[in-house]
Amino acid sequence: MKILVINAGSSSLKYQLIDMANESVLAKGLVERIGIEGSNLVHKYGKEKYEVVKPLQNHVEAIELVLEALTDKQHGVISSMDEISAVGHRVVHGGEKFAGSVIITDEVMEALRENSNLAPLHNPANIMGIEACKKVMPNTPMVGVFDTAFHQTMPPKAFLYGLPLDYYKRLKIRKYGFHGTSHRYVSQRAIEMLGKPAEQTKIVTCHLGNGSSITAVDGGKSVDTTMGLTPLDGVLMGTRSGSIDPAIIEFIMKSEGKTIDEVMKVLNKESGLIGLSEKSSDMRDVRMTANQGDEKCETTLEVWAYGIRKYIGAFAAAMGGLDAIVFTAGIGENDWEARARVVKGLEFLGVKLDAEANKNVKDEGIVSTADSKVKIMVISTNEELAIARDTLALTSK
Ligand code: ADP
Repeated sequence: MKILVINAGSSSLKYQLIDMANESVLAKGLVERIGIEGSNLVHKYGKEKYEVVKPLQNHVEAIELVLEALTDKQHGVISSMDEISAVGHRVVHGGEKFAGSVIITDEVMEALRENSNLAPLHNPANIMGIEACKKVMPNTPMVGVFDTAFHQTMPPKAFLYGLPLDYYKRLKIRKYGFHGTSHRYVSQRAIEMLGKPAEQTKIVTCHLGNGSSITAVDGGKSVDTTMGLTPLDGVLMGTRSGSIDPAIIEFIMKSEGKTIDEVMKVLNKESGLIGLSEKSSDMRDVRMTANQGDEKCETTLEVWAYGIRKYIGAFAAAMGGLDAIVFTAGIGENDWEARARVVKGLEFLGVKLDAEANKNVKDEGIVSTADSKVKIMVISTNEELAIARDTLALTSK
């Protein structure tokens, strides 16, 4: 069975074709600048790369181009579209309706449209991706996998904000959480590595990339997470502020004469690592500059790590215990200094880092000492594989 995984953005489309017989990636790629001048596709298979520059008006033309690349005589990896048994779509916001992945039906499409107001930047693009695929591959089953679904097990004490309840009842304002596919994937792997029944495990998963979130996974279920109604909440990120005093928004608007849209742009695009370091939103640049003695970058790293450390402590308290801390995503998987900085000072919780193991780990491993009560793990996330597995499970029934 070959499964195509699609992650559609407003002007881009990422894809992977996965052979589920051995869960290997046959090809993957990225279409950019859909509907904008200079549209292009970069298609990778094995060690080869194939690029096409071609005007693409919309997502339908983008999907057609992806299928052409996948079935191309010279650069393709399948002989016809019929070899694709199902398509799995990443959908950002499932609202309260979706606590798991689903086969996409007309009712599901309707519910996705209803949820669009909760994620106006993401869901409309995801919907366009699905509609385009349905048009080009009308007979291929499609599955939706939601970033929010894993967190639907959060109890009301974790997901309700201290606002008038009416906003929850009418507008569905509550904490939803994101990166759920990643938190689910790495926490399941961590449970295997702990070698205990899932019900007996308490894990904090730290997805640290451009966007970052931390989740408390108790008994295999998400019980709290740092992102909220939107992905702006929680820890400091590449360009996002994370949690701030909400009154700051009014304060900036009044002092700087900015509109709400301008302030939201500051919080989403000009804050976090780039805002504090005045250097870069990329952890590698901030790290390198800090290592060269730049004080602003050093302080930025401290603020970044301190915020994450506080959440690890908070979630250990929320769960009443802690068996493992998991690091994943771009920074979590690759930056040993960042991991060391985050767990520094957590020894009182029984967290002891093995400095050598932490420096040398590749892809996956335990980087705490043998006598550390809490295991520190590095686990590579693989959201595409998680989507493909759900798609296979639902469509082979
Ligand atoms: P996204 O959220 O866009 O999927 P990623 O998970 O790819 O992001 O993470 C991107 C972040 O990971 C960037 O801040 C980048 O600097 C950081 N990163 C990637 N590789 C390394 C590395 N070797 N050392 C430190 N940081 C890294």
